[in-house]
Amino acid sequence: MSEKEYIRSLFVHEDEILYSIYKGLEERELPQISVPPEIGKTLYLLVKMSGAKKICEIGALGGYSTIWLARAIPEDGQVLSLENRQAHADFAIENVEKAGLSSRVTFMVNDAMEILTDFVQKEEKFDFFFIDADKPNYINYLEKAIQLARPGTIITADNLLQSGRIFDLEDQGPSPTTVRQFNEKIATDPRLESILLPIGDGLGICRVK
Ligand code: SAM
Repeated sequence: MSEKEYIRSLFVHEDEILYSIYKGLEERELPQISVPPEIGKTLYLLVKMSGAKKICEIGALGGYSTIWLARAIPEDGQVLSLENRQAHADFAIENVEKAGLSSRVTFMVNDAMEILTDFVQKEEKFDFFFIDADKPNYINYLEKAIQLARPGTIITADNLLQSGRIFDLEDQGPSPTTVRQFNEKIATDPRLESILLPIGDGLGICRVK
């Protein structure tokens, strides 16, 4: 048994709804790039431990991470999930309905930067962010998230290890290059306290000071 299998067997229990999302993505020929279950459980715990009620997720796909986040908030909490592909949002809406969480989740279908810019203009505030969309925009998403944060807001981001490509400095592909810059920023930005956990493909966790 691998380390990952051991951790999953003890700490992560996916129900039928979560499990069916993997199958549904495959059947619809959508990308199978939902977070792994141990990241879902970590996000769930971070939301519960921080008492977050208003969450912004950037990148919904089939709503797998959305369901973990929405299950962690109280009934009057809200997850706003930003997704630019209608087919992804449609499947996510279906799954969130099946999970009985529609009253806590709103999917907004548009380019995430446009939506976040609008939130800034409206002076919205969030308790928790999960960044999991196009890598070249990660730093832009982070800047917007900080503008939309209160002291104590948690900002998380997935795929920060890029399947190990991050350590290969000769790999100057657009994804590892921008994620390297993102990691350096969360490590050094004076507005943040951060860590990068080696679970899944690397989960960044930042607290806004
Ligand atoms: N968080 C999801 C989960 O774990 O279940 C996985 C999200 S998947 C890695 C990334 C998603 O971000 C895709 O569904 C993609 O269509 C969406 N996306 C990519 N660029 C985007 C953009 N500029 N604005 C909004 N969504 C975007």
